[in-house]
Amino acid sequence: MTAMVIDGKQIAEQTRAEAAAGALALKTRTGVVPHLAAVLVGEDPASAVYVRNKQIACEKAGFKSTLHRLPASTGQGELLALVQALNADSGVHGILVQLPLPKGIDTTLILDAILPAKDVDGFHPENVGLLQQGRPRFLPCTPAGVMRMLKVSGIETAGKHAVVIGRSDIVGKPMAALLVQKGADATVTLCHSRTRDIGAFCREADILVAALGIPQFVKGDWVKPGAVVIDVGINRVGDKLVGDVDYLPAAQVASAITPVPGGVGPMTIAMLLANTLQAATNLSGLDGR
Ligand code: NAD
Repeated sequence: MTAMVIDGKQIAEQTRAEAAAGALALKTRTGVVPHLAAVLVGEDPASAVYVRNKQIACEKAGFKSTLHRLPASTGQGELLALVQALNADSGVHGILVQLPLPKGIDTTLILDAILPAKDVDGFHPENVGLLQQGRPRFLPCTPAGVMRMLKVSGIETAGKHAVVIGRSDIVGKPMAALLVQKGADATVTLCHSRTRDIGAFCREADILVAALGIPQFVKGDWVKPGAVVIDVGINRVGDKLVGDVDYLPAAQVASAITPVPGGVGPMTIAMLLANTLQAATNLSGLDGR
C-alpha cells in the first residue's frame, strides 16, 4: 500500500480563505475587523519568525495585527501590565503571547492572565476546562488543525483506536481530548515518555498521532497496515525539517499520512485565524459567548 498524502498546505489555504471570507462578512455586518495582538519578549530568532508568519497570515486574511515587542530584560510585572491593557482594549479580539518566555518570567501566570474570551491559543484553564467538558470556546490550534485535516480528508474517527504519542498541554493532551469527545468518538490511548513498549501500542492504532519531538521516532513496522499517520513533529536535522515519523517506510503501509514539512505545520496558523475570527464574532455580541 502507498499512503494518500494529506496536503496540509492546501487544507490550510482553504481554512485561511474561509477565515478571510468570515472577516469580510463580519466587517460588512458590524464594521468590526478581527484584531490579533501578538506579544514577543526577547530576541529568540525562531520565535520572531513564528510571530512574523502569524502577522503575515493575519494581514493576508484582512485581519488587523499588532506586535508588541519587548526586550528580554522585561520584568514579569511589566508583561502582566501589557496583557491587562490588551484585555481591557475593546479593539483587540485575540491575544497571543509567543512562547517560550525568557527565564525569570512565570509562563503560567502570564497565560492565566489573558482574558479567556481573547485566549485564541486556547491555553487558559477556563478554555481547557470547556474543551474537556465538550463545549469548547477555542480549540488549541495544532490539535484543532489535525481534526480539520482528518475531517476534510474524509477520515472517520468514530469507533477507531487513536494512539497519541506526547502529553504536552499544547498538543498531546488536547489532541486526545478532541479525539475522544462526542462527535469524534475515537477510543484514545495517550502514550508518553514513561510508556513501556510504545511500538506495541502503535501497532494497534487505526489513527496514530506522533507529537513528541524526536526525529523519526515512529518506525515503519510500528504502523498497522491501513492506519492513518499524523506527524505533528517538527525537528531540525542539519538543514532539513524532519517529523517524528520515519516517513518513507510508514508511507508504504499507512492508508494516509501527513508529510513534514507541508503537513500539520501550516494548519496551526490557519486555525489561529479561525480562533481570532471566532473571538471577534463573540466579542461583537454576535454569538452566545
Ligand atoms: P513537548 O516537548 O512539550 O512534549 C513532548 C511530549 O512527548 C512529552 O509529553 C513527553 O512525555 C513525550 N515524549 C518525550 N519523549 C518521549 C519518548 N521517548 N517516548 C514517548 N513520548 C515521549 O513538545 P510539544 O510542544 O508537544 O511538541 C511536540 C512536537 O510537535 C515537537 O517536534 C514540536 O516542534 C512539534 N510541534 C509542531 C507544531 C505544528 O504546528 N506542527 C506545533 C507544536 C509543536
